[in-house]
Amino acid sequence: MQNFESFKRFFETPQKVIITTHQNPDADALGSSLGLYNFLKNRGHEVKVITPTPYPSFLNWMHGNDSVLIYTEMDHQNVLRLFEEATAVFCLDFSTLSRINELGEIVRETKSKKILIDHHLDPESFADYMLWSTEAAATAELVFELIDQLQATNEIDEHIAECLYAGIMTDTGSFRHSSTTAKVHRIVAELIDHGANVNRVSKLIYDNNSINRIKFVGYAISEKLYVHEDLNMAYIKISKEEIAKYDLKSGDTEGLVNYALSIKGINIAAILMEKEGLIKMSFRSIGDFSVNEFARENFGGGGHKNAAGGASKESLDATEEKFLTAIFHSKKQLNYEF
Ligand code: 5GP
Ligand code: MN
Repeated sequence: MQNFESFKRFFETPQKVIITTHQNPDADALGSSLGLYNFLKNRGHEVKVITPTPYPSFLNWMHGNDSVLIYTEMDHQNVLRLFEEATAVFCLDFSTLSRINELGEIVRETKSKKILIDHHLDPESFADYMLWSTEAAATAELVFELIDQLQATNEIDEHIAECLYAGIMTDTGSFRHSSTTAKVHRIVAELIDHGANVNRVSKLIYDNNSINRIKFVGYAISEKLYVHEDLNMAYIKISKEEIAKYDLKSGDTEGLVNYALSIKGINIAAILMEKEGLIKMSFRSIGDFSVNEFARENFGGGGHKNAAGGASKESLDATEEKFLTAIFHSKKQLNYEF
């Protein structure tokens, strides 16, 4: 972080802090936010976490969850007042203000200090301080680094350790993605030393399936998986009716795209999912094909080189057509060897 000394000095006196993170928060978004929340609160700051939308219930175990405010469930005037009173706003796990919906413009306008902590590509420049690295496997890793730079790792208790561990575990795909460096393992070892219970966290996050969700995964794989072996590409397409039939809750489709990517020979995978008024897409790749660029150019999205997302306002079938055309086009344009 540039101007680290000035950042450090600013937080030597108690501040009124808001921490926010991207819409549909995942374990890294919420884990890095609540890890930082607990750390700053223990240091005597007044801290609030505000998420743009609700998040899956398998994250509710995180310490501090009970005090998280959800923008869509709040009175707008109350939100404006909180941002007016805040002296510092942390933006975690997103790089462009459009990722936090209506909160984006509120953050842009606030007079408070703005701090971006993130590992996504192409950051927008709106922050006074930036701790940003695309080399970081997770935003939770960067929060750990910040605490380390403040020479305060001795203040990491089991709650902070478990929030940060959850973010790193999930964003590395349980320590399997290429982002899993030796440094990641060293940080995780330290989190375990500070009380993170790896078995507990892993069970809370991964072994929390509803019966419906498991049945839905089976259905999606057997009926809704389309494989284009010639393109080394596979995708899953899910309609609104199917989501309703299996009574899926927020987060229930998370990880589904990885089944498509796990097929031998497949190095591009996607999921197209019909939500209210929009098709949400997740993209994954192995190797050189940048799904970040693909998502940005075709579906107004972004993310990381090998994991990105986007959306479309067209119908599910029209989106599927557009997706397939774009994949063919990318293949030609990038001369990418599938
Ligand atoms: P997921 O597919 O798991 O929702 O997201 C994969 C990665 O892409 C995450 O880092 C996420 O933040 C990012 N991402 C997902 N959807 C979008 C989107 O619509 N726009 C942008 N800019 N990034 C996204
Ligand atoms: Mn992340």
